Amino acid sequence: MIPRIEKSRHTPAWQTALMQAVGSVDELLQLLHIDAVESDIHRFSRDFPLRVPRSFVARMQPGNIHDPLLRQVLPLPEEDRQHADFLPDPLREADAMPVPGLLHKYRSRALLTLTGACAIHCRYCFRRHFPYAEANPLSGNQVLALEYLAAHTGIRELILSGGDPLTLPDSRLKTLARELAGIPHLQTLRLHTRLPIVLPERVDSRLLAWLGEHPQRVVVVVHCNHPNEIDASVVTALRKLAQAGTLLLNQSVLLKGINDEADTLIRLNEALLAAGVLPYYLHQLDRVQGAAHFEVSDSDAHALMKSVHAALPGYLVPRLVRELPDFPGKYPLWP
Ligand SMILES: *Cc1c(COP(=O)(O)O)cnc(C)c1O
Ligand code: SF4
Repeated sequence: MIPRIEKSRHTPAWQTALMQAVGSVDELLQLLHIDAVESDIHRFSRDFPLRVPRSFVARMQPGNIHDPLLRQVLPLPEEDRQHADFLPDPLREADAMPVPGLLHKYRSRALLTLTGACAIHCRYCFRRHFPYAEANPLSGNQVLALEYLAAHTGIRELILSGGDPLTLPDSRLKTLARELAGIPHLQTLRLHTRLPIVLPERVDSRLLAWLGEHPQRVVVVVHCNHPNEIDASVVTALRKLAQAGTLLLNQSVLLKGINDEADTLIRLNEALLAAGVLPYYLHQLDRVQGAAHFEVSDSDAHALMKSVHAALPGYLVPRLVRELPDFPGKYPLWP
């Protein structure tokens, strides 16, 4: 079940944009002037329906059913094909959850899944089958998570994740941030968010105000897969985040037919640099049911990394990684 977007009392412009996201395949194709053959798309994906903000749709090329941004959100019949290695919970995350919603898998950092909601539904998402209804640390559970964090002094960094934590109202985030600021061993607050890319309106004065005031180091890891995702409004949003004192990194997922060419990855990382963002991870996708058609083989991924490395300065080369259930960090796949 897909959780609802939480609404605050005074609706800021970004929340209105979030509510107005495109939620139907027919409307999306109409906006893009695409006449698709019935069998090419999957109109009824009940568990994980189509969702895409209009400003992101505006960055897609009209008439092109192979557009790399469209491919990330368009449900295809391939999703229903069963593959033995692609499972509902490939990372066995349920095992690493000491209290509901808090994942403590790597020693020095913990990850809090604040909400299951996202502004966009990425078809390859490894959280598409995640039991958010049980794991969502709403009021009661959040107290447990804060107690756990306070009691475990080895945790130096808390990652706010989801879903997308920035789908929550600033009032709620600010209250949580204040609680976290009171935990002395927590040095860094990290946000894993795709909102500055897919809904740059989200980076408004309220968000910048509390981020700018936050006493712990703030790292924002955005999620951008293709250079076409970065337009002028995204660059402005990212620059504002940097001006507010946050460190900006990007993680991408390597996706067949979307960003599995060296030229695309080179342009992506150059465009991110121009917006003040350095690459962090390039993920081999998690083998979640329904995502097999996006998988790039490890040998193709290695060849890609070789070309990217040859073309870019070292600091613009992302780390190719895969997440494994029993490894103490992301598992490096290259060199
Ligand atoms: C990816 C991840 C982290 C963060 O790992 P880094 O290598 O520090 O980016 C932390 N906890 C969980 C559960 C994760 O999946
Ligand atoms: S924004 Fe992130 S969490 Fe949300 S659907 Fe996309 S990949 Fe998944």
